[in-house]
Amino acid sequence: MKQYVFNQTCDVCASADVVVVGGGTAGVFAAVAAAKEGVSVILTEKFGSLGGSATMALVTPTMSTCVEGAPQNSYLGKELETRALAAGAMTLRGVSRYYDPTLLPVVLEQMVTDAGVKLFLYTDVIDVVKEGTAVRGIFVRDKAGIHVIEGKMFVDCTGDGDLSVLAGAAYTKGNPKTGKNQPISLRYLVSGVDMQAFHETAPDSISLWDGCAYASCTVQVPHNGVEKIMADARDAGDLTPEDLAYWQVFTLPNRPDTLACNCPEIFDYVDGTDPHDLTNAQLVGKQAAMRQLAFYKKYFHGFEKAYISGFAPMVGIRESREIAADHIMTLAEATQYTKYPDAVAQTNYPIDIHGFGDEYTDEHVKGIETDKPYFEIPFGSLVVRDLDNLFVAGRCIGCDFFVQAAIRIMPTCRSTGEAAGIGAAICAKEARSAHDNIGVRVHKTMVQRGADFDI
Ligand SMILES: Cc1cc2nc3c(=O)[nH]c(=O)nc-3n(C[C@H](O)[C@H](O)[C@H](O)COP(=O)(O)OP(=O)(O)OC[C@H]3O[C@@H](n4cnc5c(N)ncnc54)[C@H](O)[C@@H]3O)c2cc1C
Repeated sequence: MKQYVFNQTCDVCASADVVVVGGGTAGVFAAVAAAKEGVSVILTEKFGSLGGSATMALVTPTMSTCVEGAPQNSYLGKELETRALAAGAMTLRGVSRYYDPTLLPVVLEQMVTDAGVKLFLYTDVIDVVKEGTAVRGIFVRDKAGIHVIEGKMFVDCTGDGDLSVLAGAAYTKGNPKTGKNQPISLRYLVSGVDMQAFHETAPDSISLWDGCAYASCTVQVPHNGVEKIMADARDAGDLTPEDLAYWQVFTLPNRPDTLACNCPEIFDYVDGTDPHDLTNAQLVGKQAAMRQLAFYKKYFHGFEKAYISGFAPMVGIRESREIAADHIMTLAEATQYTKYPDAVAQTNYPIDIHGFGDEYTDEHVKGIETDKPYFEIPFGSLVVRDLDNLFVAGRCIGCDFFVQAAIRIMPTCRSTGEAAGIGAAICAKEARSAHDNIGVRVHKTMVQRGADFDI
């Protein structure tokens, strides 16, 4: 391969006690939590908006952790909900929440600036400054060039573990049997839908909530409702088998004529760290969405005036890398409902592996009896192994492929972000290593600030 050397001396443009990379769910919570502990914080984000997958990949609902009583293992989660409700950016339905992807960034940006976090949007992290096993700074690229941001402690909230990998951290990636990552999705919005008429197409399968619709299916055994309609469309050549593997549409706050589509699911281009896969996912994803729109118009009522009102600018990545941390959570820990004194999150969300069948089944949990059917994430899963001052939070924390399939949901990303931010602030203030045993203290701080844990 032909090669060139790229070499450049870069100015230090900023410094802070805690530097958080990635302004998605975990990154916002990490940055705000650290700032509220009284340290200076910088948050960098490569896109021009906060929210990450929640806003730019159009992942509009937050799932429940399925822990009884739905305790919020994050005090900032409560603040976000209060602010989002007041701004009209969220609707509540039982334990699920649906966010407006246009308004949520406004709420997150306000939380970040109110906490005193210095925000760098359009700022892509491209390398690290290292001294031995410590990260001293990050090389960032923005419109003005390449600069260095220095910090005492760093938190990797890039979803893909970019910062950790640049710093030399080990990681795993994909299904251990096949090496393949989970399928990805390019979500899109469809507007101009008459929800009542849509509901009447298949009233048993398409729910209506306050005039908005929800429907979901994976067509394995076509019997009635949407599954039968989709199977008929596949047989007629109007949909592909991939279209039927996972199809789901959600209601959206503020937009009574709009559906947020949690599809198409893409099986051929699944590596969120490969630019060619990301490019192809955009190309085939948009083609699939156009095919699905034509299907809606032909097979459902209420789509006569429907149109695609938005494609996600960010490909929806369920799973890419899992960063090697001091504690790497395993399937056995999850299915045995393991608990930890330094828990930063509790979840009973299923091991949710998408695709055409998989080796994981519920038989793993048979025989285990507990009145507290949830597992916990210990603080050690956020401490990046072999580096002095780096934490990781969000969907790429220290765990195996199977556990990742449960911990990726946003309430859990919030909790790990909050915990990593508090941990980073403690270390920055007390000149500690990330590997010092501060997990129990972090847990207690979360609780003191208002996080709820089942005990
Ligand atoms: C299709 C799909 C459907 C889902 N459905 C649900 C659901 O219904 N409910 C639910 O709760 N969860 C759902 N999830 C899971 C959830 O959305 C994600 O796991 C979660 O949002 C990840 O949060 P995060 O903070 O770890 O990463 P992200 O939100 O992805 O944030 C990472 C941020 O880092 C930035 N970044 C990346 N690299 C760099 C870099 N080098 N420099 C600077 N910035 C960088 C990105 O731009 C992004 O803003 C779904 C996920 C997908 C993909």
